[in-house]
Amino acid sequence: MHPRRLLIGGNWKMNGDLAGGVELAEAVVAAFDPLNESVDAVIFPPFPYLQAIGRVLGHSGIRLGAQDCSSEANGAFTGDVSAEMLVDLGVSQVIIGHSERRHIHKESDALTCEKLHMALESGLQVMLCVGETAEERSAGQATAVVQRQLRGALSGLKADKLASITVAYEPVWAIGTGKSATPKDAAEAHDAIRADLEHLYDRPSSAAVRILYGGSVNAANAPSLFAHLEIEGALVGGASLKSADFASILGSAATAFKGRRG
Ligand code: PEP
Repeated sequence: MHPRRLLIGGNWKMNGDLAGGVELAEAVVAAFDPLNESVDAVIFPPFPYLQAIGRVLGHSGIRLGAQDCSSEANGAFTGDVSAEMLVDLGVSQVIIGHSERRHIHKESDALTCEKLHMALESGLQVMLCVGETAEERSAGQATAVVQRQLRGALSGLKADKLASITVAYEPVWAIGTGKSATPKDAAEAHDAIRADLEHLYDRPSSAAVRILYGGSVNAANAPSLFAHLEIEGALVGGASLKSADFASILGSAATAFKGRRG
């Protein structure tokens, strides 16, 4: 199989302001320009800034993403944002099942699954996040938890839709803690996810799914993570808020892709 470009996502979470977001996006666009043949990128700004950041991204090749969407199409759901509204703003990908939604907002596997289906029906691509907590990992349940989350979210999904799915393996204990998983541990988790996808579907359909790592990825550790073929990119939180760090991660992904191509 030809190696695919790595995908780097920048999850800004609930950070920054409009002027700072525009400035950050402009710097990322400038850094991405010489790399756009060698790496894929998507930025997930806060909802209120989507339109402004979308304008900055323009035709740069960096795609516009959103951090969540409702499981409902429309109606009396105060504070929620529908997948169709995101499409209307030029969003092409949405994060579903981020651990901050699962743990802070107590979103279940069932709700994650409903959101995933709604996003796909609206024409969005999905960045599905899965990952175990520190307690689950020390209890030896990491693989089982990730498998439960993966199967729960993909329930009812046909194989021909897999091309619209990216999985981000994000161990909860590594998110925002500065404590990244080792490249070897992350690669093993990715192998298990890949094997489960092949078990649930088939090898050719599952091959359409890129599996990214997320959890304290930064400019320094990105090259060693991308040295593993199983790691097909990164979902980046904190380091995506600093243009130089995010640019460096994009550069490492482009270099890794060139290395994989040989
Ligand atoms: C994330 O929020 O998806 C994430 C991985 O955050 P951080 O890079 O800050 O750990």
